[in-house]
Amino acid sequence: MLITRLQQELAALEQAGLRRRRRVVTGPCGPLQQLAGAEQPRLSFCSNDYLGLAGHPALAEALAEGAQRWGVGSGASHLVSGHSQVHEDVEQGFARWQSAHIPQAAGLLFCSGFMANMALMTALGDGQTTIFSDKLNHASLIDGARLADADVRRYMHGDLAQLERLLQRCNTPQRLIVTDAVFSMDGDLADLPALLRMAEQYDAWLVVDDAHGLGVLGAHGHGSLEHFGLHSERLVWMGTLGKAMGVSGAVVVAHATIIDWLVQRARPYIYTTGMSPALAQALLASMELVESQEGAARRQHLQQLIARLRAGLSALVQQHPHWSLPDSVTAIQPLVVGSNEDALRLSATLEQSGVWVPAIRPPTVPAGTARLRFTLSAAHTQAQLDQLLAVLDTLEKITS
Ligand SMILES: *Cc1c(COP(=O)(O)O)cnc(C)c1O
Repeated sequence: MLITRLQQELAALEQAGLRRRRRVVTGPCGPLQQLAGAEQPRLSFCSNDYLGLAGHPALAEALAEGAQRWGVGSGASHLVSGHSQVHEDVEQGFARWQSAHIPQAAGLLFCSGFMANMALMTALGDGQTTIFSDKLNHASLIDGARLADADVRRYMHGDLAQLERLLQRCNTPQRLIVTDAVFSMDGDLADLPALLRMAEQYDAWLVVDDAHGLGVLGAHGHGSLEHFGLHSERLVWMGTLGKAMGVSGAVVVAHATIIDWLVQRARPYIYTTGMSPALAQALLASMELVESQEGAARRQHLQQLIARLRAGLSALVQQHPHWSLPDSVTAIQPLVVGSNEDALRLSATLEQSGVWVPAIRPPTVPAGTARLRFTLSAAHTQAQLDQLLAVLDTLEKITS
C-alpha cells in the first residue's frame, strides 16, 4: 500500500531529524515575522529578501497599478498571446544592465529561477555537449542537467584544477561550464574571472546563476558580472527576481542568438503560462529602486550588517571547536554545526528567544554539515542584529 509505505518513510525521516515542516506566516516578508498561532513576532533571519524590497510600498503600488493597466493574468504562454509590452520592457531593462558585460545582450523572462535553469540546461545541453557543473550548484541546475541530453561532469566545489582536467579530456564539440555565482548554502563567491579564462581557453560557455548576486553585488546592483567587471560573449547569465529584487520570476541575459534559440527550444519557457504582467510592472519599479540612491544606501547598510554578524559568529566559533564559519562575504552566513540534531536543537533554542533562523540539513547540504543559515536583509536594523548577537551570546553559555 502506497500510503502505508509513505507513512513508514516519513517516520524514518522524523527519526533522522530530516522531516521538513512548513511554517505559516500571517504577515508580509520582513525582519519581524508573525507566525500563525504565536503571540509574539519572530525576529527573522530566514529570507532571501536581501534589500528589503519584498514588502516595499513602491513595489506594492506598482503591482496594483500593473494589475489595473494590464490585468492580473497573462492568459497564455509568451509564444501565444501572453507576452505584453511590460514584459518586453523588463527584458530590455535587464539586457541593458548586462550590456557592459555581454555583447549583443538580450533578455528572456521566466516564471521562476528553477524553470530558467531547467530551460538553459535542456536547451543548451544537447547531445553534442558536455555540462561541467560545480558539486554545490543549486538543485535546479543539477536537475536541469539530468534532464538534458548532454554528458554531465561534476567537479568538486571550486576545484578549478579538476575542472581543467575534465575539460582537457572532453571530446564533445560543445562545452558548458555551469556555476552559482554566490553559493546558496555557503555564501561564498565562485571565482568567475578564473572560470571565464578557462571557458575561453577550452572554448566553453560559462553559465552563471546569479540568484544571490543580482541586486546585491556591483556598484549598481547589477550582480556578479558587474562585481567582477567581466566581459565576454561566452557568458550566459541568469538572475532570479524573487530574492533581492523582491518580486518573483527570473531573467536570462545572453547573446541575442542564444535568447532566440531558447525561445525556439526551451520547453520550460514555451509550455507554460506567461508571467503575470502585473508582476512585470512591479519588476520595473524594483529595477528603478535597485539602481537608485536608495538602492545604493540599502546595499551599503547590508554590508555593515554582514561585517557585524561575521564578527559575532567568529567569536562564537572560537568557543566551539566543532563549529565552523565558511568564508562568506555575502548576506548568507552559515554556522556549520555538523549533526542534524544539533542544528535542529539550536534553531529551536533560538526560537524560544524569539529569533528565527532555519536549520538546513541534508540533502540540501552534504551529510554531516547541517547548519544554521543566517540571511541578512537591508531591512534589518543595527538594533535587531544586536538583539540576535545577544541571543547567540546566551547560546554560548547554554551549550558550553
Ligand atoms: C533560489 C535559487 C534558484 C531558484 O530560483 P526561484 O526563482 O526561487 O525558482 C536558482 N538558483 C539558485 C542559486 C537559487 O538560490
